[in-house]
Amino acid sequence: MNRPSRSDARRLLAWLTLALAVGLLLYTVSAWARPGGGHTYSGGSSRSSSSRSSGGHSSGGGDGDAAGLIFQLILLCIQYPALGVPLLLIVVAFFVVKAVVGAGQKGWSTTTPDVQAVERVERSARVGRAELDAIRALDPGFSLVLFEDLAYMLYGAVQRGRALGTQALAAYLEPNLGQSLVDPQLADVQGVVIGAMRYARFSGTQSPMIEIEIEIESNYVEVLRAGGTRRFYAVDRVVLTRAATARSRPKARSHTLDCPNCGAPLSAVRGTECSYCRQNVGFGRFDWMIAGFSNQTRETRGPLLTGDVAETGTELPTIVDPGAPQRFEELSRKDPAVGWEALQGRLALIFAQLQIAWSGRDPLKIRPFVSDNLFQSLYYWIDLYTQQRCRNITENATILRVDLANVMSDTSFDAITLRIFARSVDYTVSDEGKLLSGNRSKPRTYSEYWTLIRGSSRRGEPRRDNNCPNCGAPLAISMAGQCEYCRVKVTSGDFDWVLSRIEQDESYGG
Ligand SMILES: [Zn+2]
Ligand SMILES: [Zn+2]
Repeated sequence: MNRPSRSDARRLLAWLTLALAVGLLLYTVSAWARPGGGHTYSGGSSRSSSSRSSGGHSSGGGDGDAAGLIFQLILLCIQYPALGVPLLLIVVAFFVVKAVVGAGQKGWSTTTPDVQAVERVERSARVGRAELDAIRALDPGFSLVLFEDLAYMLYGAVQRGRALGTQALAAYLEPNLGQSLVDPQLADVQGVVIGAMRYARFSGTQSPMIEIEIEIESNYVEVLRAGGTRRFYAVDRVVLTRAATARSRPKARSHTLDCPNCGAPLSAVRGTECSYCRQNVGFGRFDWMIAGFSNQTRETRGPLLTGDVAETGTELPTIVDPGAPQRFEELSRKDPAVGWEALQGRLALIFAQLQIAWSGRDPLKIRPFVSDNLFQSLYYWIDLYTQQRCRNITENATILRVDLANVMSDTSFDAITLRIFARSVDYTVSDEGKLLSGNRSKPRTYSEYWTLIRGSSRRGEPRRDNNCPNCGAPLAISMAGQCEYCRVKVTSGDFDWVLSRIEQDESYGG
């Protein structure tokens, strides 16, 4: 009688173990599938090594659970091979399927910084900006700077549209997409700030529709109808498409969403029909339309700012566009005041101001010298440091060397990309003064690609001082980038070179 009952007990124990293992397995699956492990917050836009490592926190639990599961399985195989071995095979099969599926959805499947670094290279080097210059063969007025402005503007409008409805944006949205984006739980989406933008795909200068897929890293606050707010850090993919026959709108209209054809106020557009120009202005016929919008990851917790990650890519050769030196000479011929020396002076001023703004968490200090989009990005990171009650200190920062990487000119802007090698002490401290990461005394060397832009019709020596490039008054600049004396917007690049992008070695694709 003993034997069968012991066998029954064993069987029961075996089944319990099986149930536990399967339960763990399912739990692990759900942990892995949660979008928003935070790995995508690679900090590609940030100049700091610490925030660059912000992908350092893991999705939490997933790996611990997996290790526990494996331990359980080994035990089961030893004690009850008849059960353990088949189950092990099932789990192995699951891992294989997971790996195959995972290969198609890079972005939230890794946890170690090393793997992330590799992943970032794969992800961000897909399309270099220089490739998009091909659009100018079809549309001579195309400007990458203005295209990015429009992309940022549309992204912000669509985020708000998720709460307020997308009817008003019909001229800029694929019709089926408009409906599906709206979330009835939302009363508003506020404070949309873009932290970084990357090009994922570009196709179609040979076909009727040009398509550009971008990846946007952002931060926003959802206001719920039921009351309360939720702050999110998100990575979204946006597909923008436009007819190959379309032409870029004039620069003067580049900061307003209006009728894509005639510039009438958006309120004049009913559905996709403009009541002024009587044209169907939707479907990307006249301007870029959002044809796809998908969230890759989002989470309420922000990127962790205090990881220590080794500098990557500093030793790599500079990616120099073959035509860059010649185009720099052309630019210097157009405006002899723009020489290599003069540009270095401007760069040194911006570099110094950025350290002050960054370490002091005072975004206004850098406001006069950066474009709206870069300001948004810096503001996003500085705000994160403020919220997490810490600051990243970069002391004794020095530029060691500057390489010319690229020069691009279009009808609206001249853009010069420089790779700067610099050295500084770099550490992160809490507001209480506790060292969180980095080293207070040992400097580190890094390199980044900086892009300076200026309106293509502007001429003259780049300013090396802290005075308004229009009226000469000491710079006092509003958040919107206007001089408080003469009221002109000094950050548009219409008056002097402003910094418009900071890209890390591992994400710069030309
Ligand atoms: Zn119109
Ligand atoms: Zn002024």
